[in-house]
Amino acid sequence: MSETPDRIGRLIDAAHRGEDLSREDLAFLLSLSDEASLGALETAANSARREYVGDAVHLRGIVEFSNFCRQNCLYCGLRRDNRDVVRYRMDEDAVLAAVHGIRDKGIGTVVLQSGEDPAYTRGDLCRIVGRIKDETGLIVTLSVGERPREDYRAFREAGADRYLLKHETASPDLYRRLRPGCTLEDRLRCLKDLRDLGYEVGTGNMVGLPGQTPEILAEDLLLMRSLDADMLGIGPFIPHPGTPLADEPGGDLAGTLRVLALARLLTRNTNIPATTALGTLHPEGRIRALRAGANVVMPDFTPESLRARYDIYPGKAAVPDGDVLLARLREDLILLGRQIGKGPGGRSGPR
Ligand code: SAH
Ligand code: SF4
Repeated sequence: MSETPDRIGRLIDAAHRGEDLSREDLAFLLSLSDEASLGALETAANSARREYVGDAVHLRGIVEFSNFCRQNCLYCGLRRDNRDVVRYRMDEDAVLAAVHGIRDKGIGTVVLQSGEDPAYTRGDLCRIVGRIKDETGLIVTLSVGERPREDYRAFREAGADRYLLKHETASPDLYRRLRPGCTLEDRLRCLKDLRDLGYEVGTGNMVGLPGQTPEILAEDLLLMRSLDADMLGIGPFIPHPGTPLADEPGGDLAGTLRVLALARLLTRNTNIPATTALGTLHPEGRIRALRAGANVVMPDFTPESLRARYDIYPGKAAVPDGDVLLARLREDLILLGRQIGKGPGGRSGPR
């Protein structure tokens, strides 16, 4: 079709101008696999990133404090039926020690992430959040899965500022298949509760899930936009050998960058990390993401002896220590002409 290059250019320009793209147009852009259209998307997203959130790259130190999980997500190595995982829980003092380490590096935000682990009661997590706020004053982001609204309220009152809960996929059918016993409806209710309680909310998806079509990815982007989330985590699905999806092909760099770039164009001033999953999948994943719309990096400060056991996807053992990643990032940022962000790095400006 000779009109195709024109159509691609027209759609990318329209997205860049802030116009809505239809589901069909998004699915069309997501169905392409040529380098030229990806390059055009990356360039437009990089310019939108500069325009709406500037050159700062914000750091979030992450502590993965428990790998116990009551859920059985088909994609995840921490699913409860995976008996090969050596499970661990960090106690309050161990979490605090890791968080002090993050503060000592001059990083302003900590992300506490875990499987869905009911062993940490509402009171336990409130105490941990309260101590972090008292002792370090850091911005606290929680990512501990689905909990009752009353828990979310208590965490917020204890001082939690932000919450990450990816919607994973906007297809209710795919969601039900991949997360047995769970529904997209419940997930979206949690996201609404979090929003109502005054959190800055992060959502996002995985790219390359089995059964995912360009139309479903288009729905992901439309959902991210309609939820008006403040942060968007977009990473490749990386098949894990200890799961039912072990033999699936998984996501690739180009497909993930396509979604990330469109997310930047559609949501303008959100915070979008260059995800660890993308950096794990491909040696250039992090830097390519930073050039395709991303403006956040999340160095890992889980104690080294435990990090490889937080085995959500394979390759976690090779995830660099937070300090090593910071050193590499500083070199990357010189090449990119960008700087590490100062301050809390929350979403700024009008939505
Ligand atoms: N238990 C919480 C937080 C930890 S899981 C939750 O599920 O929300 C954090 C993220 O890891 C999930 O949102 C999912 O998008 C991602 N993830 C899980 N398995 C993955 C895989 N095999 N490849 C890539 N990302 C994966
Ligand atoms: Fe548990 Fe989260 Fe993994 Fe699902 S994705 S099994 S909820 S850790």
